[in-house]
Amino acid sequence: LGPTVVIGEILVEIMALTRGNGFLEPIELVGPYASGAPAIFIDQCARLGGAAGIVASVGDDDFGRLNVERLRADGADVSAISVSPDFPTGSAFVRYREDGSRDFVFNIGKSAAALIGLTDAAKALFERAGHLHVMGTAFAIPGAWEMIEHALGVIKGRGGSVSFDPNLRKELLGQGQTQARFQRLLDLADLLLPSGDELFVAAGVEGEEAAVAALFRRGIGEIALKRGEKGSSFFGGDGTRIDRLAFAVTEVDPTGAGDCFGGAYVACRRLGMAPAEALDYANAAGARNVSVRGPMEGAGTRAELDAFIAATPRLP
Ligand code: ADP
Repeated sequence: LGPTVVIGEILVEIMALTRGNGFLEPIELVGPYASGAPAIFIDQCARLGGAAGIVASVGDDDFGRLNVERLRADGADVSAISVSPDFPTGSAFVRYREDGSRDFVFNIGKSAAALIGLTDAAKALFERAGHLHVMGTAFAIPGAWEMIEHALGVIKGRGGSVSFDPNLRKELLGQGQTQARFQRLLDLADLLLPSGDELFVAAGVEGEEAAVAALFRRGIGEIALKRGEKGSSFFGGDGTRIDRLAFAVTEVDPTGAGDCFGGAYVACRRLGMAPAEALDYANAAGARNVSVRGPMEGAGTRAELDAFIAATPRLP
């Protein structure tokens, strides 16, 4: 029917080489790496051969060019990435602490990333799209919601489908329109991709079975639940459940696992694969991505993921 389309932020990530607290003294950094949750999602989708495009904004600078060239090289439609003459590409500096939590210095709100709007190129992309993927991170970008509403209308109107990765920061749910927008997407999504407890937040009830039942009652057609090192599960509207184990890797950089998982899962399902096979590719994409530094450096082609699956044992 047409490409999978995502709306949201493109960033570069610059990462501290050593673990520790923040950036209060000079430390060694690596990067820039192409980043932004929607960019990671769409890159993995495109690398797997799923037609894919992104609506986003970058600055007229090397950080922007790095991202656009990367996405283009990996096969994504970059025609709806606009280039701001006035604002730099968004950036995030990240340093892991010893306990695995992260300190960030963000430049997003006053960067090109915050400038996405309904350009002619974005409209044209929506008009040929067959699937819209919405990420909760887009709720924080001014102007993004209007675009999401527009895209929902156009893509659903031509018989396309919608997936939703809540990507929640729970404290944001109480703010402004966020809860209402969250609920609207739950009403419209065909596929939900929650991570861990997001399943319960989305359903409004605790307990996996009860949560899944509540979401199906409200019209969700399919759920792919991300469980980190425990792998992932598929729930179908007919009561089917499939669990697939994660792959055993040494985690170097967990950023981007869920986005790679989502990009792979959506691409595989749209390419016609059965849920179990899609879960395997998605688990592989997530695991491969956490085993290398950089938020999307582990995104894989079909051949790379096949080789990874053949060579990597499953976690018990
Ligand atoms: P999110 O980043 O959205 O919280 P997860 O952490 O669940 O999502 O990661 C998504 C998928 O990536 C998991 O379902 C799993 O298949 C894979 N994954 C993530 N972390 C690891 C890990 N440490 N080892 C192996 N696989 C992992």
